[in-house]
Amino acid sequence: MTPLYARHKRTTLAVATAVAAGALLTTGLTTGTAAAQTPADTSGKAGLAGAPLQLTAAARTTLIKQQQAGAADTARKIGLGAKEKLVVKDVVKDADGTVHTRYERTYAGLPVLGGDLVVHESKSGATKSVTKATTKSIKVASLTPKLTVAKAEKQALSAAKAAGSEKTAADGARKVIWAGSGTPVLAYETIVGGFQDDGTPNQLHVITDAATGKKLFEYQGIENATGTGKSLYSGTVSLTTTLSGSTYQLTDGSRGTHKTYNKSHGTSSSAGTLFTDADNTWGTGTASSSATDQTAAVDAAYGAAETWDFYKSTFGRSGIKNNGVAAYSRVHYGNQYVNAFWDDSCFCMTYGDGEGNVDPLTSLDVAGHEMSHGVTSNTAGLNYSGESGGLNEATSDIFGTGVEFFANNASDKGDYLIGEKININGDGTPLRYMDKPSKDGGSADSWSSSVGNLDVHYSSGVANHFFYLLSEGSGAKTINGVSYNSPTSNGSTVTGIGRDKALQIWYKALTTYFTSTTNYKSARTGTLSAAAALYGSGSTEYNAVAAAWSAVNVS
Ligand SMILES: [Zn+2]
Repeated sequence: MTPLYARHKRTTLAVATAVAAGALLTTGLTTGTAAAQTPADTSGKAGLAGAPLQLTAAARTTLIKQQQAGAADTARKIGLGAKEKLVVKDVVKDADGTVHTRYERTYAGLPVLGGDLVVHESKSGATKSVTKATTKSIKVASLTPKLTVAKAEKQALSAAKAAGSEKTAADGARKVIWAGSGTPVLAYETIVGGFQDDGTPNQLHVITDAATGKKLFEYQGIENATGTGKSLYSGTVSLTTTLSGSTYQLTDGSRGTHKTYNKSHGTSSSAGTLFTDADNTWGTGTASSSATDQTAAVDAAYGAAETWDFYKSTFGRSGIKNNGVAAYSRVHYGNQYVNAFWDDSCFCMTYGDGEGNVDPLTSLDVAGHEMSHGVTSNTAGLNYSGESGGLNEATSDIFGTGVEFFANNASDKGDYLIGEKININGDGTPLRYMDKPSKDGGSADSWSSSVGNLDVHYSSGVANHFFYLLSEGSGAKTINGVSYNSPTSNGSTVTGIGRDKALQIWYKALTTYFTSTTNYKSARTGTLSAAAALYGSGSTEYNAVAAAWSAVNVS
């Protein structure tokens, strides 16, 4: 586990060592499993004949091509009409050789909505059965609509307006066959994009009968429910939640199924209780020491969502392991627990409630900091002690800062401070400062031969300072209302290249050139390699990386 800071130094360091070892083991196992896979099929789970095989990407592609080549034959075999064609969407192969092929259907070249079907074939290729979305046969008298496109779009726009959309034009309409209900008919499918009234992306699909103008169906292309969260630190935010029966769960189906749990002031290793709500409005926006408080959960869920989006949109990374799967979050951990930590073994984030249980450590930069420990663990795996530990901590501060700027939240604007929202010192001052790390009373501004002896939350200062200088440059500067004044150890003046480029360089170095044992000297080399790869050797960016390291005494 990698805590936010070092107040409970002994305990957290001891546990951190154990987890670091666990992380190495997990990574090794994953690689081993992948390497052991044959190029073709791997065996089915539990040895059941009907269990699906885990096909390799190549094997799946081959099978899809094969099924598509035989699609016309299949269409005839299962009794489709002359105007109908099948398009393979997905394929599943079982251990006993059964192949389930999922098709979309077209009719006279038009997509048939609700015409999808699955053909089940035995190992020998014989059709065993067919599962159809509609049992009706498709016979449409005319393919010429009586209704104008404009009328269909008008209907779609008024449906979108009812959902809070401010769009004045549809994003397009197409002719389709509607087979989703009743007798299949010629129809228009109109899409209206934009945003819903709470800021959630909108993608309303409206199906209109092309003969009668009747609205046949409408659905929201952006799935999941959208809740309203009243956070403690980030104002009122939109949360993606999941409706289960008549209860909403704090489960984000659009970001790797991230879930937020309540530890109810306990400290066991269990996940806790999943947060649920009846009306999909979560939290109060004010601190509460109650064990059932939802507000801390809102901040944690929002932080996880912004962190997910930051990595996705900035680096194209899909989750901590880049496999589309989210970690989970636990809030209300312990009684007056003044820390937050990432733990590889549960692949989860945990937040305490702070002094008096009223200052939860759930701010945006802390969430970004913690999840980034997971990213480090699954990439460079920087050992959590000595100089590599400082680089590990700095990576979390760097990307936590990246998340905060990315979220662009008016209640918690981007800054180069860590933990400025969580009242960690009892006087409202931040936990750490990136422009001049020593302002926290313990962190190093620049490298010295003893920096590796410091706690990792203090040796991180060197890299945090490097990142600030690389982004913004040395000297005095005010950003989003916060004043900075960044010194250099060699008296040089450093010109920044902007945070966006600095983030790209750090990420590339972390994922490509850093290893478990990277120290400051090799971090300089690694980031220079990254800058050379991204912007060219000898480029302005490359030279700025060199200058910023020299300005923190790493040469
Ligand atoms: Zn940390």
